[in-house]
Amino acid sequence: MKGYAMLKIGETGWIEKERPACGPNDAIVKPLALSPCTSDIHTVWEGALGDRHNMILGHEGCGEVVEVGSAVKDFKKGDRILVAAITPDWMSVEAQAGYPMHSGGMLAGWKFSNFKDGVFGEYFHVNDADGNLAHLPSNISVEEACMLSDMVPTGFHGVELANIKFGETVLVVGIGPVGLMAVAGANLRGASRIIVVGSRPGTIEVAKKYGATDAISYKDGPIDQQVLEMTGGKGVDKAIIAGGGVDTFEPVVKVLKPGGTIGNVNYLGSGTYIQIPRVEWGVGMGHKTITGGLMPGGRDRLEKLASLISVGKLDVSLLLTHRFKGFEKVEDALFLMKDKPADLIKPVVTL
Ligand code: NDP
Ligand code: ZN
Repeated sequence: MKGYAMLKIGETGWIEKERPACGPNDAIVKPLALSPCTSDIHTVWEGALGDRHNMILGHEGCGEVVEVGSAVKDFKKGDRILVAAITPDWMSVEAQAGYPMHSGGMLAGWKFSNFKDGVFGEYFHVNDADGNLAHLPSNISVEEACMLSDMVPTGFHGVELANIKFGETVLVVGIGPVGLMAVAGANLRGASRIIVVGSRPGTIEVAKKYGATDAISYKDGPIDQQVLEMTGGKGVDKAIIAGGGVDTFEPVVKVLKPGGTIGNVNYLGSGTYIQIPRVEWGVGMGHKTITGGLMPGGRDRLEKLASLISVGKLDVSLLLTHRFKGFEKVEDALFLMKDKPADLIKPVVTL
């Protein structure tokens, strides 16, 4: 079969591979739609995970089941499915401890285009099919379904990590597709004021549709100064980081109220250390929590997040700014993600 792969750090191309084999608990899926991710860019062009050779890229897509293993109960050939970017081993001790995304080791629930071939192939392999697939609801398009692989579950995980409650003032740093879903999630959780940080007018406009009340640009001066000014020096209750880099934590700690939490879902592709400002961290006693996580994955979560779209409470179509048709267009879509034109939120390819 054909697949679009990372050949080595900084290089991608089409390769031929054997179709993956199906174990007793697994499924083999033919993609119906695919979407590249900023994480693919970190992986290939920043070498953020280390070198990978001839590894098929991609972890966002939906598809049709072409084969299931003998032990799979709830899915069969021909089913149209959703699958998350993170596909844990649900029998692992880490999953039992509540951290399925780290099943088998830190971040090891992230298998697609990390520990095995990803979804940008004519076929892809899904482990623990009963735990990692969900049926695609008939009123969700295959393009929207791709947003359930990663953008919705990751943005919403930022909301879970920050533990957002009714009436809180929330800062969302970064309003690419992940940050936009964090805004939508914070809004659904009942946040009052939602201050977003981005620089592109188009994404700011979309953020407002998802519930942002105020917007600032990191290009207009330090984020902390701008946020303190607009909150009368009070700062924010909670923050979600979905953009920036290792230097982004410092200003966010500075604007966080005591008792506040930062939920980071940003993939830190470069840098060695994160600096925490000693004084604004309450000289070590400020009750300011910094947490970060890979989203959990799993069928239950997929079904619940999909139901928000099905009933009309979440509209992911605002993210889909660039549409392509045909498997071979995966390459163009990935390069578009790399070049990031100002009007891009998310490209999607239907097959
Ligand atoms: P985008 O690149 O589309 O968006 C990044 C956002 O951050 C943009 O709004 C950008 O602003 C803003 N930004 C850039 N530089 C700065 C800065 N110095 N300070 C503040 N804001 C800045 O990314 P995605 O939304 O696609 O993804 C966000 C992150 O989440 C990525 O690192 C991605 O790899 C990661 N990720 C993590 C996952 C997880 O499970 N934890 C899963 C999926 C993705 P603008 O463009 O307006 O200038
Ligand atoms: Zn992704």
